[in-house]
Amino acid sequence: LIEGANVVVDGTDNFETRYLINDACVKHGLPWVYGGVVSTYGATTTFIPGRTACLRCLLATMPAPGTVPTCDTVGVLGPAVNVVASLEIVQAIKVLTGQVPVPPPLIFIDVWEGLWEVVTLQKGEASCPTCDEGRFDFLRAREGHRVVELCGRDTFQITPRRRTPLPLEQLAGRLREVGRVFQNEYLLRLEMAPYELTVFADGRTLVKGAKDEAEARGIYARYVGS
Ligand SMILES: [Zn+2]
Repeated sequence: LIEGANVVVDGTDNFETRYLINDACVKHGLPWVYGGVVSTYGATTTFIPGRTACLRCLLATMPAPGTVPTCDTVGVLGPAVNVVASLEIVQAIKVLTGQVPVPPPLIFIDVWEGLWEVVTLQKGEASCPTCDEGRFDFLRAREGHRVVELCGRDTFQITPRRRTPLPLEQLAGRLREVGRVFQNEYLLRLEMAPYELTVFADGRTLVKGAKDEAEARGIYARYVGS
């Protein structure tokens, strides 16, 4: 997908894809303009392989499933998307004209609160598995989520490669906004026609009603998150 590109500008909605983009851009030496928005706030920056920190320098491990809000659980305000998208275009123009300052700015905005904060994107001392050690765990599918179809049940099972306890109660609170939720200490069930999600405390999730793996991954990213 990125072959022949001069810059990658993303508007993706989940961390698994962002880490995959990070691997691909570092591997191929491509600048990446990152933008993420949820609720009324967002962040954006530019990653340039070999010159700046990469995403994995900042966040060594992907946030655990169920720990981050998503646009489908807390919503997203259109103007916040517009502001971050506009800032991404400015950064893409700077990349294409060779005018990105190093270290680049990392910009946080909250359009509701009127907040605008800029820090510089610094690379830490710790060795980064991706840009220092050349390990592309997401491209090689050693990280991220495993998806298998459960035969004849119209159901896909999504298993995070890193098992971490999932805050079921917190997630249930957010999902009550989008459908019928049943929750106990072992699992959470969300009924939201035509889908039914069963999320276990270790992050394993069954997505019923998705017609293929891509749709199941999308539903997981939107409602469980990460
Ligand atoms: Zn890095």
